[in-house]
Amino acid sequence: MENDTNQTQTRIISDTVCSGLVLLDKSHKDDDNHVVHLPITLFPSPIPRRLYSHCQQIQQSISKLMLGIARDIPFISSSLSEVLKVDEFTKSMFDVMMTVEREGLAQPVISCINRADYLLNKTEAGPLGVRQVEVNAIASGMSTHCCRTEHVHRLLMQKYDIKLPAAGCYEVPQNNSKTIKIDGLMELYDCYKKHNCYILMVTEERNFNFSEHAAIEFELLERRPDIKLVRKDFVDLHLCMSLGPNKELLIDDSKEIAVVYYRIGYDPSHYTSELQWQTRLKIERSRAIKCPSINFHLSGVKKFQQVLNDSEKLEKFLTPLEATAVAETFCKFWSLDADTDEGKRGYQVAIRDHKRLVLKPQREGGGNNIYGSDIPLYLERQVKPEDRSQYILMEYIDAPKELNWHIFPTDKLKSDQSILLNDSALVSELGIYGCIIANETTTLCNRSGGYLMRSKKPGVHEGGVAAGHAAVSSLITYDDEVVDSSTLFI
Ligand code: ADP
Ligand code: MG
Repeated sequence: MENDTNQTQTRIISDTVCSGLVLLDKSHKDDDNHVVHLPITLFPSPIPRRLYSHCQQIQQSISKLMLGIARDIPFISSSLSEVLKVDEFTKSMFDVMMTVEREGLAQPVISCINRADYLLNKTEAGPLGVRQVEVNAIASGMSTHCCRTEHVHRLLMQKYDIKLPAAGCYEVPQNNSKTIKIDGLMELYDCYKKHNCYILMVTEERNFNFSEHAAIEFELLERRPDIKLVRKDFVDLHLCMSLGPNKELLIDDSKEIAVVYYRIGYDPSHYTSELQWQTRLKIERSRAIKCPSINFHLSGVKKFQQVLNDSEKLEKFLTPLEATAVAETFCKFWSLDADTDEGKRGYQVAIRDHKRLVLKPQREGGGNNIYGSDIPLYLERQVKPEDRSQYILMEYIDAPKELNWHIFPTDKLKSDQSILLNDSALVSELGIYGCIIANETTTLCNRSGGYLMRSKKPGVHEGGVAAGHAAVSSLITYDDEVVDSSTLFI
C-alpha cells in the first residue's frame, strides 16, 4: 500500500513537471540548468460558491477604485502625506509621479493588471465570510501557473477516478486568468496605435518564476504573431534604454516599446542604486504605455485600504451599490499616523490588542508584515514616533483550514512514510485578476476573471509561492446551503 502511494506521488510530481509547472532550483546557485516542480496541492481547495461569485463580481469595482485613486493626485498626496515623511520607497515613487505630472504626460493611456487577494473568514456563529487581504498592482503573477494547476488537478481526478459528490452542486470552475492577462497586453499594444513595436517585460536576470514569463511570451506569440516581446533585467535596463525625439521609448537604439509590463519594481531591493529610479522616471516620461503606470502602482499601497475603509468613503470613487459590495469584504484597519489623534488611538490598539492584528508597511510582494505578539516590540523599537506612520494596522483574519496536502519539491520520499499518508490542514488564499485601461476621461477596458488559489500551512504567515511559503491549488466551489462547511473545513 505504502509503495503504491509512493509511486502515485512520484507520478504526480512527474506529471506536474511535464505540464510545465516548474521554477528554477534555488539550490543550484547561478546555474539555470536545474528546475524543480512548482509546489502544488494534491487536491483542489473548497470555497462556498456565493463567496467566490462575490469576489468575482466586485473585481471590476476594485479596478475602478484603483483608477479613481490613480487619477486623483490631490487625494494620493493627502492620504499618503504622513507615510511620505518617513517611507523613502513610497516617497521615491511619489516623486516620480509628481515629476511627470509637472512635465505633462507623454502618454494619456494608463493601465494596471491587478490581483485582489482574499482569505475565507470564520465568524462566531454565522456562515463563512471572505475578507480582502490586499490588492497587488505589480506582484500579480502566477496567472499561467494557476491555469495549469487547475488543468493538472482535473486530469489527476480523471486519471485516478475521483468523482465529485452529486449533492452540493460541486463545481471545478474554469480558470481564465491567463486570458485576462494576455488580452490585456494585446489591448494595450493596440492602444499604442503603431505597428512593429515591442512589449517590454521588465524582470530580473535570474527569475525563479521564469516559466511563467516564458508562458506569457509564448501565448502572446501564438495569439498575436505581430507582437514581439523583449524581456530585460530591470537592474541593467538603463544601459540599453533611451528616449527618441518624440519621447519614444527605445531599447537597443531601434526597438520602439509600445507597452512596458513590470514584473519587478515593487520592492526596495529591486532598486540596487539610484539608476533604477532613473530608469523608472525615464519610462514614465516616455510615450510607452506602462502597466502599471506609477500612479496605478501607488493606488495599490496598503494605506488606501485603511483610508477607504468603509462604503461611505468608497463612494468618492464608486456608486453606493458598488461601494457596499466591496466594503462587505473589508477587515477593520487602524491608522498609525504619529501626528493625528486617530493614529495615536491606533497605536494604543496595537500595544493593547496585538494578538489579533497584523502590522503592514506600504509594500507588495511578501515578507514585510509583522504579526501578533511581535507588534508591540517592533513598534517600540522605531527610532522616532513618526516612523510608525509608514505602517497600517489590520485585523487578523481567522481563516478556516481545509484537509489537503502540499507537494513541495523538497519533500523527500521515504520508504517508511509518504507525505500522502500524513494528515494535513491547509489555509487557502484566493486571488482574482483584473485588467483596467483608461485615458484621461474614459475607461477603455475593465475586465476581470480567473483566479489564483494558494495554500499554506496554518501558522505560516506569508503566502508567497516562489518564496516557498505556499503551494498553488485550484478551486472546487459548492453550495453552502446544501453542504455544511464544517464538513469541509476545520
Ligand atoms: P504582501 O504584500 O507582502 O504579499 P499581504 O498583505 O498579502 O502582503 O500579506 C502576506 C500574507 O500574510 C498573505 O498572503 C496572508 O497569507 C497573510 N496575511 C496578510 N494579512 C493578513 C490578515 N489580516 N490576517 C491573516 N493573514 C494575513
Ligand atoms: Mg500578498
